[in-house]
This record gives sequence, C-alpha cells and structure tokens, in this order.
Amino acid sequence: MKAAVLREAPGELAVEDVTVAAPEPREVLVANAAAGLCHSDLHFIDGIYPWPLPAVLGHESAGVVTAVGKDVTYVAPGDHVITCVSVFCGECERCLTGHPSLCSDPSVRRPPEAPPRLAQGEEPISQFSELGSFAEELLVHERAVVKIPADIPLDRAALVGCAVITGVGAVFNTAEVPAGSTVAVVGCGGIGLNCVQGAKIAGALRVIAVDTVASKLELAASFGATDLVDAGAGDPVAQVRELTGGGVDYSFEAIGTKATVEAVYAMARPGGTAVVIGMLPLGTKVEIDGVDFLAERRLLGCLMGSNRFRVDMPRILELYRQGRLKLDELVSARITLDGLNAAATELRTGTVARSVVVF
Ligand code: ZN
Ligand code: ZN
Repeated sequence: MKAAVLREAPGELAVEDVTVAAPEPREVLVANAAAGLCHSDLHFIDGIYPWPLPAVLGHESAGVVTAVGKDVTYVAPGDHVITCVSVFCGECERCLTGHPSLCSDPSVRRPPEAPPRLAQGEEPISQFSELGSFAEELLVHERAVVKIPADIPLDRAALVGCAVITGVGAVFNTAEVPAGSTVAVVGCGGIGLNCVQGAKIAGALRVIAVDTVASKLELAASFGATDLVDAGAGDPVAQVRELTGGGVDYSFEAIGTKATVEAVYAMARPGGTAVVIGMLPLGTKVEIDGVDFLAERRLLGCLMGSNRFRVDMPRILELYRQGRLKLDELVSARITLDGLNAAATELRTGTVARSVVVF
C-alpha cells in the first residue's frame, strides 16, 4: 500500500510503498477513506516532539473494515469506523473510572518482540499513536475504532477523530460548561472552531472567538461565536475583560504557546476556569501570578477532549445529522497523499481549518 513516511525530523513526508501485516488477535484492518492533517502532526514533522522514525504520521481518519483478527467481536468487515488515538484497554483503573482517554495499558500495542504492523522489507515502520493515518490501510487494535452509521460521509467523519472530539470534548467533558456561561476561545483553527460550536451547543450565553486571522474569525462567527476579538488589534485579555465586565466563566487555549496559555488564564474571571488544549513545545514553562489562585481561578489540562470516544463520537454524528453541529464547513481542502507537504506549509501559516487526504 501507499503511505506518507517521515524518515527524519525536521523533514518532509515521502509517499512510499509499505507492507501492512495481517491482523493479529484483537486487531482490525481498515481501508482508509480520509485523513485530516492536524496541527499536532506538524510538531512531529518539525521535530519539536520525538517519535520513533521512520514513521507513518496522521491520527485523524475514517474508513471501512476489510478484515479482522481472531477474538474481534466489536466490528466485522464492511463496518464503517472512525479511528481515535485514545485506544483504551477497558480493564484498567483509568478506564473503569471513566477516563479511558488516559489509559496507557500496553496490551493495546503489539509487544516490542512481535513482528511490526508496518514494514518495508526488513525495516519496521512505526505508526504514529498506534494509527498512522496517512496510509491507504490502517492496522489497529479494535479499541482504536468506533463503529458509525454507513450514511455519514467518511471525509467528514474523519475530522471527528481528532479536531471535533478534542474541541467539543474540551467543552463537554473537560470543562463541563453549563448553559448560560460566558466562554472565550483563543485560536480558531480546527480545534478552536470545535470549541466554539461545542460552547454554542452547550448553551453558552456568550462565545468570544479570539484570533489574529480575519478569515478564521469569520468562520468562528458562522460556527456560533457571538463576539469576535482580533488579537492583533490590541491586548486580547483586555478586550475580553472589557466585553464581559471582568472575564469569562470558561476560556479555552487552542494554539499551544506560553503566551496564549497565560492569556486564557488571565481571561478567566474570579472563580473561572481556563482549559489548555494546545500542545506546547516540550520543556515550555508557563508563568502564572500566584495571587490569582486566591481568586479561585482554575487551570485545567486537556488531552483529546477527555473523550470516551465510543460514546462521544456517535453523539457528535447525531448532532451533525440534526444540523446542530458543523462538519462540512471544517474541510478547507481535499488533497492526496502527495499534497501533504504543501498542506503542512499552509497549516503553518495558519490560514486553513483542515486539509483532508481523500483516498
Ligand atoms: Zn490532532
Ligand atoms: Zn485502560
């Protein structure tokens, strides 16, 4: 099969022939239909975060099951699925107390001594986050997929695998935003737009979108933002405080920089909550004035929207079906595997929501 392989970081992806193994017990083989390019992929392409190379990156995909290994009962060939990096064992303390996205049980991976899932001749090729979505076929653990209705378009469903679940999940699961709240979202890319629409669906009274790119702010307005703040036209914290008379109940950081994390914390009103979704470069230290803790401002971390993806993703798709959640508008461009490097450059300049590889 064809896959986009990263051999050095920083580096570029090269489309190469890769051999995929047959499914072992509990594994499923998926014919990939679509894969989104997420900002987190750039961290690995740019070498800001390490990953064993060579690797097939990509972690936001949907497709059709073509084969299953022994002991797989959840899916059968022909089922449509979305993949998720939050592969869970279902047995550990994290899983059994309602935090499957924090599961780190090794049973969902092939042991190091086992033959690799992907290879080129004798050389093993790693799958990013046990998925490796920039490939025509995905060989994954059965608990890395959720079954979805067959009438949902797979190029839209793919985006639910990371951008939508992370943004909407940060609102619903991590922060548990109640109706009537005031919300600010800093960064209106794929994740931020989904925070905006999650806040709208949750019944937030005000949803303030903050970005420096005018086209992204316009998109945020169409996703449900009630107020738009151009962070390039003056201190965004002062603008948000001005709009809300002292800060918001919930603020979300969807970029991943020290400055924006500090900004979302400062945008929270006394008793308010700031949620950090963005992936900060390794080693980044965040500075907060200690006196702010006396105002009971809370700072929450967030991984993949604190998801329970087998429950959350079908709900998200039902909201889409009802016309209450946007997916079509998230797709900025449909590309091929060959187009990933150019799409990565565009994503770095910050003008697109999502480029989606269609197979
Ligand atoms: Zn992602
Ligand atoms: Zn577990």
